[in-house]
Amino acid sequence: MLNVGKIEEGFVLDHIKAGTSLSIYRHLQLDKLDCTVAIIKNARSNKMGKKDILKVECDVDRMDLDVLAFIDHNITVNIIKNGEIVEKKELILPKEIKNVIHCKNPRCITSIEQGLPHIFVLSDEKKEIYRCKYCEEKFDRRSL
Ligand SMILES: [Zn+2]
Repeated sequence: MLNVGKIEEGFVLDHIKAGTSLSIYRHLQLDKLDCTVAIIKNARSNKMGKKDILKVECDVDRMDLDVLAFIDHNITVNIIKNGEIVEKKELILPKEIKNVIHCKNPRCITSIEQGLPHIFVLSDEKKEIYRCKYCEEKFDRRSL
């Protein structure tokens, strides 16, 4: 594999579905932080064929892991300290997600009243279906 160097302190997101690392970079708002980020695309993976990896040199506590879990809870989060993996975090689908996705229903109150938070609630854990809290519009994952 391509070697982009080990990070000393921070975290590595592994097993990202190939091609989705940039979307995750955006949703975690990594562009707004001044930390070092390495994006590795199409790394070889025994499990997945191809995968993306994100290496981030900043404290994982500054990240909204609910957002990450919402996007893909199969991503592995490795916490790095002194160049070693010290912890692997499990991602659990959040029960509720706020202001990450927007309701597309033009008749939804969030489309009419500006400034309302966009809240989606997990309505089916097995099928990973989220619905708008106000109008129950189903969120289509493909639009992420
Ligand atoms: Zn709605």
